[in-house]
Amino acid sequence: MSTPIDAPPHGPMREQSNRLTGPTSIRRVGLIERYMDRLPFAAGDPVISLNEGSTPLILAPRLSERVGAEVHLKYEGLNPTGSFKDRGMTAAVSAAVREGAEAVICASTGNTAASLAAYASRAGIRGVVLVPDGKIAAGKLAQALMHGAQVVALQGNFDEALRLVRQISEVHPIALVNSVNDFRLEGQKTAAFEILEDLDGKLDALCIPVGNAGNITAYWKGFREMLGEGSPDLPRMLGFQAHGANPLVRGEMVPEPETVASAIRIGNPARWEQAMGAMTSSGGLVADCTDEEILDAYRFLAREEGVFCEPASATSVAGLLKHGAGDAQRVVCVLTGHGLKDPQTALDESPPVIPCAPELRALEKILVG
Ligand SMILES: *Cc1c(COP(=O)(O)O)cnc(C)c1O
Repeated sequence: MSTPIDAPPHGPMREQSNRLTGPTSIRRVGLIERYMDRLPFAAGDPVISLNEGSTPLILAPRLSERVGAEVHLKYEGLNPTGSFKDRGMTAAVSAAVREGAEAVICASTGNTAASLAAYASRAGIRGVVLVPDGKIAAGKLAQALMHGAQVVALQGNFDEALRLVRQISEVHPIALVNSVNDFRLEGQKTAAFEILEDLDGKLDALCIPVGNAGNITAYWKGFREMLGEGSPDLPRMLGFQAHGANPLVRGEMVPEPETVASAIRIGNPARWEQAMGAMTSSGGLVADCTDEEILDAYRFLAREEGVFCEPASATSVAGLLKHGAGDAQRVVCVLTGHGLKDPQTALDESPPVIPCAPELRALEKILVG
């Protein structure tokens, strides 16, 4: 395949050169403030924000070379709690507070719990999270606990947890902030706005991991709102799942989903139809990757691009490497969460540390043999 990074289709590498162009000053605001006119909020509404959003879009030169297209990484791990869930949470919690809620609840594979906990503490309301027992990454659990949420470990999987929180929020005054809550999607669609702004509206394909399928639904909404329904500039939506948790690929529920990518370990996505609609009507696709392929992409990004994401996030890149992006020339891979969320997987996938006596010779022996 040719190497378009030599002659990038839309202009390129130049935009991200390392040369300094002089001082600039950016006041970073949260996304409700940044996109108020495109969100269901009005001046004077309570805004619960940690200045989420405005995450970097990073050109990935080595990945671009491998794929034969210009590939950028939307690094959502740089949100306040380390995942894109903060975009949805600022909107959902702000709306809940506007409606007078005194408590919020969610089912979570981890990141929604961490985000809910932070935004609930910020709002001064009670936060409750239901997580699958023993299946949540250490960083996420630490966050939920530190922010003071009540963490309930369910002896069941995510899908069962979601069913329970839906039921409880129907009969008790506690607001449900999973992505079945439309405010979540409203907040999350802003990532699509940012990408279009950064790329002057020119993007051929978006690669994204799919779990409960809220995020792909939100991006598709954001692209259509910004570019217009039916616009020829709409990017193709390429959704990727883990092989052991691939209901959309199989076309049927997976009763016992299993994957190293714990954030997308979901067998019955709540936004099933909408996600399929996004992929079909954009001319995209849904496909899957094995855990091994996901972990390969995870290590590649950290070692070759200097970008550390969690395993679920690397599914977007694993999918791109495995299935390609057709004739797309400019591609964005969404990296949904930070690598520090799941230190155990990182350590398991890395070589051991090198022991050394506190002596010059010992160090030399290691470094120069
Ligand atoms: C939540 C999450 C996903 C999946 O997003 P959905 O909206 O559930 O499809 C993927 N990656 C990470 C890191 C997540 O936290």
